Amino acid sequence: MLDYPCLCKKLFFPALDIANRTNVSKKLAFLEKSQWWSEEQLTDYQNREIRSIIGHAYNNVPYYRRIFKERSIMPQDIKTKEDIEKLPILTKKDVKRNFNDLIAKNHSMMTLHKTSGSTGEPTAFYVDKEAESWKLGCTLRSWKWAGYNLGDRHAQLGVWSRRGRKKVKDILLRCIYLPARKLNEKMIYNYLLTLEKSKVKSLIGVASSLYLLAKYASKWNFRINFNTLVNLGDTLLLHQRKLIEKEFDCKINDTYGLGGESIEIAAQCERNELYHINQEIAFLNFLKVRKSQNLSKIIVTGLRNYAMPLIRYDTGDTCILKKAKCSCGRSFDSIFSINGRLIDNVITPNGTIILNYFFPGLFELVDSIDSFQVIQEVPKEIYIKIIKNDKFRYQDLDFIKKSISKECNNDLRVFFEFVDQIHKPENQKNRYVISKCS
Ligand SMILES: [Zn+2]
Repeated sequence: MLDYPCLCKKLFFPALDIANRTNVSKKLAFLEKSQWWSEEQLTDYQNREIRSIIGHAYNNVPYYRRIFKERSIMPQDIKTKEDIEKLPILTKKDVKRNFNDLIAKNHSMMTLHKTSGSTGEPTAFYVDKEAESWKLGCTLRSWKWAGYNLGDRHAQLGVWSRRGRKKVKDILLRCIYLPARKLNEKMIYNYLLTLEKSKVKSLIGVASSLYLLAKYASKWNFRINFNTLVNLGDTLLLHQRKLIEKEFDCKINDTYGLGGESIEIAAQCERNELYHINQEIAFLNFLKVRKSQNLSKIIVTGLRNYAMPLIRYDTGDTCILKKAKCSCGRSFDSIFSINGRLIDNVITPNGTIILNYFFPGLFELVDSIDSFQVIQEVPKEIYIKIIKNDKFRYQDLDFIKKSISKECNNDLRVFFEFVDQIHKPENQKNRYVISKCS
């Protein structure tokens, strides 16, 4: 007799594929094999997919036909991943300006995905079913790396409420879905109670919501632990990781992807050492931000979305690279850490970059400040908006000033402003830093 996970894999999941006109089951089966390919196999496969999408873009996408013509190059000039640099970088602005010309003329089955974007500029992308299937396949593979198996009872902290087909999917896949677009204390309390009572061992959610849950679980003395924790979105900041892992007694597996563009880029495996790039669906270029720094901009070529190909697309995110292989034995190219949007880092006049996650880590040490926002309008100074509480003492500001000075070798003047409210645009909960100098 089949057990539930087996029933899920063999029956429910393929049935959901039929209902959604996707083929995630097949993609997942493929990805479970390809994760053990050698470096050479992965490179060959990636080069083949690059040639294929480049040929398609030239033949069917007016924007790329024009780009090739302007540069006097032909698809056959791009044979390997090294050759792809002959093409220019595609920015979000380019996508907006050339939206209709980026849609493939021979494609009709596509869905419009809208994203508010981390900079608050709404962007839209057309995505086909193949790209959606590959993305979900990679997502499920990364959940598996974190210890979750299809059919396992689990909880998901999502964004929007579920209706219709998605609700049926949750029932079949045994998912307790908790919408977390806007959380308040009462909701958090109820969610913690639900998690405690249900005894689910896997929790999947966006970093900022997981962090809030962990924070209140600690405050209200909940004793909840998991075997699997996955961050689905938002840059996972160091202090968030520490608290979530401590409170829920479980390592968190971070993932990195572009939701609207429908490209799942990388994820941490069970060893939790590095981020493995999903080379079967994405090819990455890295651009150094500053010569003296390790920071690189992430440029991605999506290998699966033929409805609207994104070639050398500027994600706006940065990372730190490390030439190392993971002890898990997979041969994927790897990233050491994902650092979020470049715009969120402070850059001083001498070129020192204070990475965005430095600030929340610092303010975590000061319990007299409820909320803050760092603003850099000119290179030599920052001002910090602060919402203080009853415990506030002026010595706390000296501590903050000294810590920042140490981080940037006294290269910044620091000012403070006490405020009652800090405006953070929708979907930008991690916008701790706004810099006009980066
Ligand atoms: Zn690994």
